[in-house]
Amino acid sequence: MKTEIKEKAVLLEKGKKTILIAGPCSAETEEQVVSTAKAIAKIEPNAIYRAGIWKPRTRPGSFEGIGLIGLSWLKKVKEETGLKVATEVATPKHVDYCMLQGIDVLWLGARTTVNPFSVQEICEALRGTSIPVLIKNPVHADLQLWIGAIERLKKSNIKNIGVIHRGFHNHQELVYRNSPRWELAIELKTLFPDIPIICDPSHITGKKQLVSGIAQQAMDIGFDGLMIETHPDPINALSDAAQQLTPAELEKLMIALVTRETSQYNMANGNQLEILRERINQTDEHLLQVLSSRMNIAKSIGDYKKENSISILQTARWEEIIGSLHQRAEHLNLNKDFVTKLYNCIHDESIKKQTQH
Ligand code: PEP
Ligand code: MN
Repeated sequence: MKTEIKEKAVLLEKGKKTILIAGPCSAETEEQVVSTAKAIAKIEPNAIYRAGIWKPRTRPGSFEGIGLIGLSWLKKVKEETGLKVATEVATPKHVDYCMLQGIDVLWLGARTTVNPFSVQEICEALRGTSIPVLIKNPVHADLQLWIGAIERLKKSNIKNIGVIHRGFHNHQELVYRNSPRWELAIELKTLFPDIPIICDPSHITGKKQLVSGIAQQAMDIGFDGLMIETHPDPINALSDAAQQLTPAELEKLMIALVTRETSQYNMANGNQLEILRERINQTDEHLLQVLSSRMNIAKSIGDYKKENSISILQTARWEEIIGSLHQRAEHLNLNKDFVTKLYNCIHDESIKKQTQH
């Protein structure tokens, strides 16, 4: 069941403008899909519109996607906004349905990339088509699986390939939903310099407040684009509610984003102060998240000490912490007295947390 595709301009050209892929985690209603697309088209007319139709959920019973009808909503988005549209495919049938409905870009999700059987089956369904395909990194930090999926697509003669870095599951991670592990994305970029690499800060962070910070880091590293989940009413979204931005928040992020192509424009227009302020806001948000994680750990330590009848204040341990912080501070060009004051304050608060029951 393969249809002829009338290929439009190449969608994933490397080295041109930053590629923006935006749209809801899941297509929920026709109104939500179309109105979000219209808002995104105003922000970036060249954006590719994303919406998940079939959702790979960890547990059955959570929203598993709207299914086939969602493809007709995406078709409507194309007609009404001119945006290219993209969705996730996880089975050969999904590929066939998308080709029939004229979906412009497909992506393989993290839970598909982990499984070479699934990747191979999808490759067979794609053979003979020229649709662009993006490959998300596998759920866990196995670069070989990611490379393997690229190789399988290449062997199936798929020419227009891109990759999406969405972070890696890590049970020790405290701040992000998925650890960025930038070094792995950079290694992939080095191995495949011609393949565009897109960052998905929504799935890396899992928290809307951290999305812009990771998006900026990706631009600083030299990523070719961003995939950002965008929903008109994020808190009521049927999936990934905590990480989606409203279109207005997406617009703010895009204005503040410093990319190679915008930095000259922004400098010339005197927006530099605004951009730096936004970066300060992002950094402050990060600091707060890290402090909150630290206090949660302190609380767990407090519980442990209580259970094991260990006294809360362990002066030797504290001296050890301060000693190594001073060394790090010097290395990072931070004033020693400032770091001492700051940590005395953090330590006081940690002790308080440990005494709270
Ligand atoms: C998604 O893009 O909504 C998604 C399910 O992502 P991932 O495969 O990265 O978890
Ligand atoms: Mn999602």
